[in-house]
Amino acid sequence: MSKNYDVIVIGGGPAGYVAAIRAAQLGQNTAVVDNFIYKGEPSLGGTCLNVGCIPSKALLDSSEQYHRVTHRLSAHGIKAKDVELDVKEMIKRKDKVVNELTGGIAQLLKANKIDWLQGHGKLLDNKQVQVTRHKGEQETYQAENIILAPGSLPIEIDAAPLDERIVDSAGALEFDEVPKRLGVIGAGVIGLEMGSVWSRLGSKVILLEALDEFLPAVDQRVAKSALTEFKNQGLDIRFGARVTNTKTAKNVTVHYEDKDGKQSIQVDKLVVCVGRRPATNDLFSEDANLLLDERGFVNVDDYCRTNLPGVYAIGDVVRGPMLAHKGSEEGVMVAEIIAGGNGHMNYETVPWVIYTHPEIAWVGRTEQSLKSAGVPYKTGTFNLSASGRARAMEDMAGMVKVIAHAETDRILGVHIVGPQASELIAEAVVAMEFHASAEDLARIIHAHPTLSEAVHEAALSVSKRAIHKAN
Ligand code: FAD
Ligand code: AMP
Repeated sequence: MSKNYDVIVIGGGPAGYVAAIRAAQLGQNTAVVDNFIYKGEPSLGGTCLNVGCIPSKALLDSSEQYHRVTHRLSAHGIKAKDVELDVKEMIKRKDKVVNELTGGIAQLLKANKIDWLQGHGKLLDNKQVQVTRHKGEQETYQAENIILAPGSLPIEIDAAPLDERIVDSAGALEFDEVPKRLGVIGAGVIGLEMGSVWSRLGSKVILLEALDEFLPAVDQRVAKSALTEFKNQGLDIRFGARVTNTKTAKNVTVHYEDKDGKQSIQVDKLVVCVGRRPATNDLFSEDANLLLDERGFVNVDDYCRTNLPGVYAIGDVVRGPMLAHKGSEEGVMVAEIIAGGNGHMNYETVPWVIYTHPEIAWVGRTEQSLKSAGVPYKTGTFNLSASGRARAMEDMAGMVKVIAHAETDRILGVHIVGPQASELIAEAVVAMEFHASAEDLARIIHAHPTLSEAVHEAALSVSKRAIHKAN
């Protein structure tokens, strides 16, 4: 038996490392076990920092800059000639961003006196954790409390096994040239972001989506507005298209079926973005008796407690949205509970963002979910075409929609499609966290001229008194 800890966290992603830091702040002697290898080296930060949130946003930003220079600056009277794209340099910058941030997490663990145990962690019975180091040696540790935060992995499908041309989202962050034609299976959050990166850089992108509906979790008016924009940008999104088979040779032939029967396309690269699954493989021994739910996630209650006393699970491996900040907040909650505090988590106010252009961001309920639940509601909307700031930016596509309870006026959901929606949504999250009414938001002073005025106007529009539109 090796060292004992107060807390051992399995998984060093945004759920796990945040839980560990908060536990250490609260005086717990803590270790993080993590098995991630990035380009040959152990690397903290999990999917999010190594192959998820951060590198995708680095490339989304780079590709947006390129697209702006090549397509959107002329409207401002700026003519850019001989613009050159250096994809290898772009990927190098992305790697630099990743390395700086993952290195920063290692520093933070050190500063908080948290041990980083590099290798694979497995929950045994009696609150023991077996760690298999990258070179194969095994050690067993004992802890008062264990937090499982192993995250998730991309779902693979038999119709499109990965090879040199068929890749998952991590592979789509590593192309060293722009594929002429790019196929993406799945027009969900990750598929849209990956498709956007390469489309902006010049790929002809076709997204094949099995569902007939676009982004069913998004308020459908907002989704419709976004879809129009994406189509204008040249993204070819085909709905009701189920991929049945692929063949890789000099390029990839993708066979799919839609309402008109059998179809096929040829692409140079294909990205499989059909969702993610909980990373529970080899996470626990049989005699640990850890309970999973019917979908294979670790079963937890509202406080992220598993069926085993002193064992918690957080992040992508448990129910709820697979979002970094959701996992991080669960980590803080669990660390505080372990240290004897009152950790809590408000699942009603988790913001969602899709980092396309325009961005899509929302918090709370959609109109379609309220309708099907029979909740009485009223809505207010405001189009960015009427926003002075959006016009000044020459970035007018999009809208804000505020949904409030018809009787109490309490805000039930806010939905934004437009530039900087990811930042604008924070105001709505704060408002909802404080149980604000649409009237509260309508009475708050917003600086002029800002995009946030559109949130204000949408809140005013709930009671039909928006100023810059006909109500
Ligand atoms: P992870 O980040 O997956 O971390 C788990 C860690 O545990 C990994 O390092 C893993 O190797 C390690 N591990 C697993 N099992 C073991 C074990 N048994 N022993 C030791 N170590 C183990 N979310 C957002 O909120 N915003 C975004 O913009 C965003 N963009 C994304 C873009 C892409 C391309 C992808 C793929 C995901 C994106 N996500 C985004 C989702 C986000 O990455 C996840 O929600 C988040 O990483 C989940 O955090 P986690 O800590 O639960 O798991
Ligand atoms: P997300 O859940 O946001 O990660 O998105 C994944 C998307 O992939 C969903 O919209 C699914 O409908 C879609 N999808 C899953 N399997 C297939 C498939 N075989 N062909 C096309 N789309 C798929």
